[in-house]
Amino acid sequence: MVANQRIIEQAKTQGRTVLTELESKQLLKEAGINVVETRLATSREEAMTIAKQLGFPVVLKIASPDVVHKSDAGGVKLGLRTSKQAGKAYDDIIAAIGEKYPQAVIQGVSVQKMARPGVEVIIGMSQDAQFGPVLMFGLGGILVEVLKDVSFRIVPLEKRDAAEMIREIKGYPVLEGYRGREKVDIAYLEDMLLKVSNFVEKNPEIKELDLNPVFAYSDGAIAVDARVILEVEEKK
Ligand code: ADP
Ligand code: MG
Repeated sequence: MVANQRIIEQAKTQGRTVLTELESKQLLKEAGINVVETRLATSREEAMTIAKQLGFPVVLKIASPDVVHKSDAGGVKLGLRTSKQAGKAYDDIIAAIGEKYPQAVIQGVSVQKMARPGVEVIIGMSQDAQFGPVLMFGLGGILVEVLKDVSFRIVPLEKRDAAEMIREIKGYPVLEGYRGREKVDIAYLEDMLLKVSNFVEKNPEIKELDLNPVFAYSDGAIAVDARVILEVEEKK
């Protein structure tokens, strides 16, 4: 909780409401939510060293509160297999972001483990004017962006809400192992939803949350991207 408060306070001091992926993952990890191990590099050399420590393959991503859609801006490099590749990816990301967002405040580049592919799902939270914090669950990927196949429940979630919201999406058969795909560990996802609900309840200063995507497996699930947005502080 102490580290959580520090991350949130630091953002507030800097006058920002958007937490970077790295900061968001730190908060979530402390809440017991499984996230890909992610560290910050502030130089090409550091990126190479961290990559070696984590073990290949790795993923590098821009760490900036001003770049929300990281891959659109050339800010994500997947499947890097050597420290040389990681070093080059560091330089490429900094160059691409510098060109596209010359005003962006850049913390550095995050270096993370490349998670093995799974069934992509999304977990989100937004504030409803009437109901307060509401959790969302859905399948990830382009199809779902088009079809908007998602379910919602008001926070705090009961065990039963978590079970229902997973089963009521139209794409549920996909999670049960559609056409030879991996059958997903539903109980683990239910538990993840409950943990997110709990996390949101305990941190009322969080306005929005996005775990997009979470890779779901036959034995667990892991968030590979995360974004937290804080409530704007009212001036006293
Ligand atoms: P964006 O800000 O564009 O949403 P993401 O962090 O979600 O950036 O990365 C884009 C895509 O790259 C993800 O949807 C996922 O498919 C893949 N990806 C990102 N991080 C990882 C990782 N650590 N391991 C495996 N795949 C990843
Ligand atoms: Mg994402």
